[in-house]
Amino acid sequence: MTYHIVTIFPDMFSSYINESIIGRAIKNKLIFVRFYNPRDFIKAPKNNYRPVDDKSYGGGPGMVMRAEPLLKTVDFIFKKLKAKSSKSKAVLVINFIPSAEKFTTAFAKKVSKKYTDIILICGRYEGIDARVDKILKTKKLSIGDYVLTGGEIPAMILVDCVSRQIPGVLGKYESLEEERISSSEFYTRPEKLVYKGKGYKVPKVLLLGNHKLIENWKQKK
Ligand code: SAM
Repeated sequence: MTYHIVTIFPDMFSSYINESIIGRAIKNKLIFVRFYNPRDFIKAPKNNYRPVDDKSYGGGPGMVMRAEPLLKTVDFIFKKLKAKSSKSKAVLVINFIPSAEKFTTAFAKKVSKKYTDIILICGRYEGIDARVDKILKTKKLSIGDYVLTGGEIPAMILVDCVSRQIPGVLGKYESLEEERISSSEFYTRPEKLVYKGKGYKVPKVLLLGNHKLIENWKQKK
């Protein structure tokens, strides 16, 4: 799977994607992450100021990301894909919008099997010019009922969640845990935790070694 991230803030991603499971998946060439800055697709005027945003038609306090730089960026990605590979590519273009359909693990599972490339447009300001969605037929996704400052965190969430579904990305132990765990309550040592003079014990059922009882307890939880 190759993720093509369209963002004016590519540096935001580096520490997250280079650590832990995602970092390992990149090193092992199980996933690839590429960045494209729409600012690079604007001809620089004399003063070298290259705005990716402009005022909103109909008014409103915030700026809107302009369509042309985004379309040029995505065109560039498609051209690159065509030139580089003889194999046919299945490409999905995603735009993040807080009020759109919710991104879920079920969706992540589906796209991990169906697509070879995912283009992620990270909106900023009030969002992107709506014509980009129409022209590129983007899939619009929300990561939750709250408003963030941009689409970069939603893109990282998608990369993380979709990558977990790609064979080999999770180690054997981690993937087993993913399927097995049915509880949201976990304990580790010590058996009795003392905090500010008060003792907190691990539930007895988890100490008995009876797997049937433990599974029942987890189901209940
Ligand atoms: N004016 C927009 C609205 O009310 O829907 C909010 C824009 S938000 C400040 C800037 C960008 O952050 C959005 O275009 C979107 O790409 C991203 N974003 C913010 N919250 C998000 C969420 N919960 N899910 C997905 N994307 C989100």
